[in-house]
Amino acid sequence: ATPTAIMVGTGLGAKRGVLVKNAMALETSARIEVAVMDKTGTLTKGEPEVTDVLTEGRDEDALLRLVAGVERESEHPLAEAIVRHAESRGANGARASRFENVPGHGAIAEIDGHRVVVGNRRLLERQGIPLGSLATRRDELAATGRTAVLAAVDGFAAGVIGIADAPRDSSAAAVAALHELGVEVVMLTGDNQATAERIAHRLGIDTVIAEVLPGDKAAKIAGLQRSGRKVAMVGDGVNDAPALAQADLGIAIGAGTDVAIETADVVLMRSDPLDVPTALRIGRGTLRKMR
Ligand code: ADP
Ligand code: MG
Repeated sequence: ATPTAIMVGTGLGAKRGVLVKNAMALETSARIEVAVMDKTGTLTKGEPEVTDVLTEGRDEDALLRLVAGVERESEHPLAEAIVRHAESRGANGARASRFENVPGHGAIAEIDGHRVVVGNRRLLERQGIPLGSLATRRDELAATGRTAVLAAVDGFAAGVIGIADAPRDSSAAAVAALHELGVEVVMLTGDNQATAERIAHRLGIDTVIAEVLPGDKAAKIAGLQRSGRKVAMVGDGVNDAPALAQADLGIAIGAGTDVAIETADVVLMRSDPLDVPTALRIGRGTLRKMR
């Protein structure tokens, strides 16, 4: 594009809080054919809230106390939601020792002499802990689009905590607008398949890549690029930075982490998913002016 077209394009974006970092990014944005969207904090508000505490053989608050004891040591957004919920019920205050964070899986610690494992199905599997009758309740929660956090105490499954994270108001409209531009939309998440599919369905997204470990997100982007298509990645988290770098166009949600914002080619200051199609449209407009 000509320098003038680029100035007009970046200026137009800036007015809407779409910060395009360089001319190259503007040109690439015109050629995007696939938009990969991170689920948590990008398509959803990233404000998870505990909705259910289902237990097996222990009362709810007793289990919450153990789980919150572990999660207080973790920085994961799901952990924060659980701690907040426990505090609201006065089920907090347990102290953890031997804390171990398991990225993409959950966390483990010793609380009041009990070994407490908190996380996803894969974590319990790795620990050799069968879910038993809690499997059905986990599936029921996932079918409603909630994230099921599993808890085990001393080697036995002890409960399931349901956590909801509402989609952002404009997520469905953003997906529709991208489809109108002929762009395929893919959801990428570390969350479980059933939960992700439920939310994707609600938003009109047809492709879901779920249960992706933090270190594997970039490889998933590379996989999509192998088809020869230009791929944009939209994300907010520390986990997303390698994928933002791998993508042809990295787009960071402005409310996200510094690492994501630094790595990205485009930053959406308003944290509005609708600004993704806006960014691509500005790119297309800029290229057209060049001819
Ligand atoms: P996301 O893509 O949602 O950021 P992560 O890779 O951080 O996913 O985590 C993947 C999954 O691992 C989560 O959906 C959750 O089920 C589980 N998990 C990770 N950390 C924790 C934790 N501290 N407490 C409970 N569950 C966790
Ligand atoms: Mg995220």
